[in-house]
Amino acid sequence: MISRIAAAGLLVLASVAGCGKKESSTPDGASTSAEPAVAEAGKQPAATVDGARIAAIDNEPAVWLSTGRNYGDQRFSPLDKINDQNVSKLGLAWTYKVDVDRGAEATPLVVDGVMYTTGAYSILYALDARTGKELWKYDPEVPRAKSGNACCDVVNRGVAISKGRVFLAAFDGRLIALDAKDGKKIWEVSAADGSGRTFALTGAPIAIKDMVVIGSGGAEFNARGYVSAFDAADGKLKWRWYVVPGDPTKPQEQPELEKALATWKGKKWAEQGGGGTVWNSFSYDPEANLLYFGTGNGVSWNRIERGEPTDADNLFISSLVALKADTGEYAWHYQEVPGDNWDYDATANIVLADLEIGGKPRKVLLHAPKNAFFYVLDRITGELLSAEKYTHATWATKVDLKTGRPVVDQKVADWTKEPKLVIPGPFGAHNWHPMSFSPKTGLVYIPVQDAASLLSPHKEVAFDNREGVWNIGLDLPYPEDAKAAAEAAASYKGRLLAWDPVNQKKVWAQEYPNIWNGGTMVTAGNLVFQGTADGRFVAYSADKGEKLWEAPANSGVLAGAMTYELDGEQYVTVMAGWGGVFPLIGGVISNNAKVRPEARVITFKLGATGSLPPPKHDVVPVPELQEVKADAKTLAKGEQLFGNNCSYCHGLNAVGGGIIPDLRYLTPEKHEMFAGIVAGAKADRGMPSFAGRLMPEDIEAIRQYVIKQSQTLKSQLPAAPAS
Ligand code: CA
Repeated sequence: MISRIAAAGLLVLASVAGCGKKESSTPDGASTSAEPAVAEAGKQPAATVDGARIAAIDNEPAVWLSTGRNYGDQRFSPLDKINDQNVSKLGLAWTYKVDVDRGAEATPLVVDGVMYTTGAYSILYALDARTGKELWKYDPEVPRAKSGNACCDVVNRGVAISKGRVFLAAFDGRLIALDAKDGKKIWEVSAADGSGRTFALTGAPIAIKDMVVIGSGGAEFNARGYVSAFDAADGKLKWRWYVVPGDPTKPQEQPELEKALATWKGKKWAEQGGGGTVWNSFSYDPEANLLYFGTGNGVSWNRIERGEPTDADNLFISSLVALKADTGEYAWHYQEVPGDNWDYDATANIVLADLEIGGKPRKVLLHAPKNAFFYVLDRITGELLSAEKYTHATWATKVDLKTGRPVVDQKVADWTKEPKLVIPGPFGAHNWHPMSFSPKTGLVYIPVQDAASLLSPHKEVAFDNREGVWNIGLDLPYPEDAKAAAEAAASYKGRLLAWDPVNQKKVWAQEYPNIWNGGTMVTAGNLVFQGTADGRFVAYSADKGEKLWEAPANSGVLAGAMTYELDGEQYVTVMAGWGGVFPLIGGVISNNAKVRPEARVITFKLGATGSLPPPKHDVVPVPELQEVKADAKTLAKGEQLFGNNCSYCHGLNAVGGGIIPDLRYLTPEKHEMFAGIVAGAKADRGMPSFAGRLMPEDIEAIRQYVIKQSQTLKSQLPAAPAS
């Protein structure tokens, strides 16, 4: 039996996994540095960084001033005190427990002995980089009721720093400037354009010259994507660049949008927003003064629902874009997925490098998006130089270098008439988890995954333009049968891939049993660091891929690592914290990873001997079950409604992924409160209100379906779990 998971409503998130208990910065016997703490809050030097210093980062190996370390987002460190000869002596120096045990996706920054990083709900931490001692903390108090305004967890990918200020993009759409000394707020603006469309921020801003630039999220809802540049001094908007056209009956905001209008057909898209959100990261070439970013899918994923006829390219969705940084004027674009029908977002991090190609030095842009092709472009002109598959993909056979377009195999890829198993699926062959590039080895280190998805046409076309309502325009069926589900889950594999971008070929790979492994960082010590979905932090030799060291992380690791040096000592830091869209929606698969969402900053150095506290084992017995009191028709309705409204957070087939409550474990007391919770009684804990979207009989049908799934779970368990 196939569970029909339709898509129109939003999700549910019952209570947030909670503000975890405060953990001391050096818990559980973790060793501390002999150095004294940097300074008290308010007295340390204040992020004495500007764009020129970031642009000259190669001269300063010790610091990490922007999320990708350099403006080219290479995530390469010239530090080599920790190297392939001594990495086996790497030990835990300190840890810092963040407040919320949800996905941790930030790459910390370090300057002047202070580490700046973020956790879930955009909470910002300034820590003594030697000891992990908290210097200050800033909680933007994101309204938990807004938790449903992003597809993919209440995450944050880090901050930007410039001229004594830290810039935070809060989940609810505010851009906030804080004093780096003490975390005092200097200014706060909304980065949204006031259109009232769904808007959320999860990406890190970038600081360039006197500006701070941020994108937008929400293309699984009803968003129109754009990028905004604000004056770092006072938060005034300097320019805004829209990714897709607006109301076609009115003049467009930018000249290139007048041309882009011809690539949109039908009438629905303008009202729906069009999509193309810039939800991840930026890169910048200071010499060319060009700003680079990738754009997301259209609204909805389903091109039929954007408007027929369906052969339209829909510029500038799923594209790489370069803008003139000072003015936000269009420089060039390259559309990776014309008319994207598969949620193939072009939003993976963009690496800038100087390579010799065909005997000539070229300034290139390297990109490995969800669609499984590795692209090399001239970053000044936008010319496509090469594109090859970096892993298995069925949706297209190749990219035609003459036209620059993918040769789509519609027999395999067009799911709009009948369900198709498409590779890769919407989780992507490489999602946002940052890849890195080493100028020493010339290789790119990509967190790759094989994750097919069965995409299925919508039973009923329904678009709901309200804030926070899902509109992906298709069904994601998943096998209900335990054996079939296990087989599907087993097909999901991860891989760390070392890729030669000049010759477009694999150099080495390390295989993982799960997808959703962490971003990578590479160093001049011939080391690649990567955290894993199954809760480890691992170092490999960068040239050959030999595994040299690993340490437990107690939780799945998504984020990219970073490294810095203080007082002659090199440190390596990564944020651990399982979360993101995969465990939210895909618990039925991701439970394989068997890790819990404990979120913390973890820092290593040579010779340290600390250890993490024992990982959480929250084995919960299935509580006393209620009787299913609904007929088959009502259960089928409940199943459909669950898929439409609840599965994005509580999981396909109601199988939770350990991030937020698995509804199959609801106690009788919670069942009593069920209707109230769905209607908003726990909005302050992160469970959005469905009042007005679901009628009481709908909610009861969902509840009956949940009880049925609890019964199924209990029947599958070998025996009563140990208490
Ligand atoms: Ca997307």
